[in-house]
Amino acid sequence: MVAAGFFQGSGTMPVNGLGPYDDSNIFARILRGEIPAKKVHEDQYSLAFHDIAPQAPVHVLVIPKGKYVSIADFSATATPDEITGFWRAVGQVAKALGLEPDGYRVLMNMGMHSGQEVPHFHVHICGGRPLGRMIPQG
Ligand code: 5GP
Repeated sequence: MVAAGFFQGSGTMPVNGLGPYDDSNIFARILRGEIPAKKVHEDQYSLAFHDIAPQAPVHVLVIPKGKYVSIADFSATATPDEITGFWRAVGQVAKALGLEPDGYRVLMNMGMHSGQEVPHFHVHICGGRPLGRMIPQG
């Protein structure tokens, strides 16, 4: 377990978050069913599955089905239906995971300074224990 409140990556090099979209990224492959994932939710706009290297007792990723590199790309270019469908799924997944009574954290990484590793937009939902400070100090 890493320091409270800090979600480390898996050691992969960070990406710039601005594209172009790379169809070979790992989440594109999960969407195509080429590699397995522990799915917790799927609908027209989104897919949610457990993170392969959880940083909290509950650590689930929610991704849009559309090809968006990052929050920058998604917020600028996704359709209103995609944006609404995606964010509704984020809330529904957190609720279905039982995280609402004690609370949870939603986190997105965009680009090099954030340490974004997978160039397909995703939201981390983390919970199941107190998560500490949002940003590590120093
Ligand atoms: P990022 O650092 O890009 O915000 O987060 C990428 C996340 O994807 C990391 O938390 C990492 O553990 C997770 N991840 C990387 N590869 C896989 C995989 O093949 N399957 C799953 N379920 N998660 C992955």
